Amino acid sequence: MSLLARIRPDLAAFAPYASARRSGFEARIRLDANESPWSGDADASGLNRYPSPQPEELRARLAALYGVDPSRLWLGRGSDEAIDLLLRAFCRAGRDNVVAPAPTFGMYRIGAQLQGAEYRTLALRGEDDFALDDEALLALTDADTKLVILCSPNNPTGTLYHGERLAGLAARLAGRALLLVDEAYIEFAGVASACALIDRHPNVAVLRTLSKVHALAGARIGVLIAAAEIVDLVARIAAPYPLPTLSVRAALAALDDDAVARTDRRVDVLLAERARVAQALERMADVRRVWPSSGNFLLVRFADAGAAFARALGAGILLRDVSRQPGLEHCLRITVGAPDENDALLAALAGSAA
Ligand code: PMP
Repeated sequence: MSLLARIRPDLAAFAPYASARRSGFEARIRLDANESPWSGDADASGLNRYPSPQPEELRARLAALYGVDPSRLWLGRGSDEAIDLLLRAFCRAGRDNVVAPAPTFGMYRIGAQLQGAEYRTLALRGEDDFALDDEALLALTDADTKLVILCSPNNPTGTLYHGERLAGLAARLAGRALLLVDEAYIEFAGVASACALIDRHPNVAVLRTLSKVHALAGARIGVLIAAAEIVDLVARIAAPYPLPTLSVRAALAALDDDAVARTDRRVDVLLAERARVAQALERMADVRRVWPSSGNFLLVRFADAGAAFARALGAGILLRDVSRQPGLEHCLRITVGAPDENDALLAALAGSAA
């Protein structure tokens, strides 16, 4: 059964907004979109015109980078937007539910709540290195489960869930729920993307982003990779022009061959720094645990997370306090920075000046 049978029935015949750029016509003089005929004073490069709903050049470049057909890609305002639109497309408010492990990235819960969908979590334990019991996760699903969301590497724990299990979960959810694999941090994990599963398991969808490894968090570009029918569905319900022209230009510049080679070298630096910072933290008296991480961050338990947070802040360094999340008592999430930033952090936490 196609997963389209599981979308909100009221969206089955949903007609998208017929924006000017969707008409398919090209012409020398364009008087179809109520744009200004003049460029702004500060820019002569066409910002007076609406962008393409899905800029073809960027879509093709990303498809090549991710090794998938362009028809499988939908580009949006960060992967946050794709999460939101998938929840909207599938979940009937007040009836359907979404299943995910916890702790994980907070926007899944927010998106589900906004859509009126129940958000069910499987609590993972730091004592077990946040190991995931697939059967326990599946046991939370029922006839009204529309999405199972797996963040891998997981934010904020750094745990990697890729491997054989993804195909197994997809098979068990076939025809009833989407298995959404959020790969925001996969470039730091050294494993193959779940994209390759989509051919055999069309209920798998993958999220990628330019916000992390490609250093474009400010451009707000995220990518949904899914079966073409799911991509078409998301494109139908999305806002007409999700990608600003300036962001598209920045992305194309960040994805040329030289830039990608530079990004790869930076990943090497970051992975070496991740290991160095983890080792140094493990030696500190007030550090209780540093979990293995496949992301560009470390989850660290301190004897007193509040004190560690304050010591870092006193040295001008902001960490992420995740200690109020269930199971993460006294934990901070620490992004791996540039070598000098990491030196400053280690000095601050050790109590000396950098
Ligand atoms: N997924 C995960 C796991 C994240 O950590 C984040 C950002 N913190 C996002 C998605 C959202 O990224 P984007 O900038 O692409 O919206």
